[in-house]
Amino acid sequence: MKNCPLCAHEYYDEARRCPDCEYDFPADGPAAPPEESDVASALGKIARGEDPGTGPAASLAERIDALFRDADDDPNELWRRSPQRLRHVSEYEMALRLRDAWKKSQASKPREGR
Ligand SMILES: [Zn+2]
Repeated sequence: MKNCPLCAHEYYDEARRCPDCEYDFPADGPAAPPEESDVASALGKIARGEDPGTGPAASLAERIDALFRDADDDPNELWRRSPQRLRHVSEYEMALRLRDAWKKSQASKPREGR
């Protein structure tokens, strides 16, 4: 989500123009990173074999999921391979936090088989 800088109304990241005040969002300005909670929920869907949907959070979740599989739970590999999957250090930091949260959630409940 992003806010219109003029009227502060909240819109989806894909919005090109604020319908309230007709402010034109920059076409290819630096996109704000997706909300971490949205990425976490998209990652959860991927882990359950569900469709994470579309949008920046889902696309980042798919890249983070691919990175986790590449790295095979090795933190050094995670760092080394991150430039192949991620676009910014903030995405890497988010991936690390999501990985920690994921590990905690896995440790606190029995493994589910599929
Ligand atoms: Zn506006």
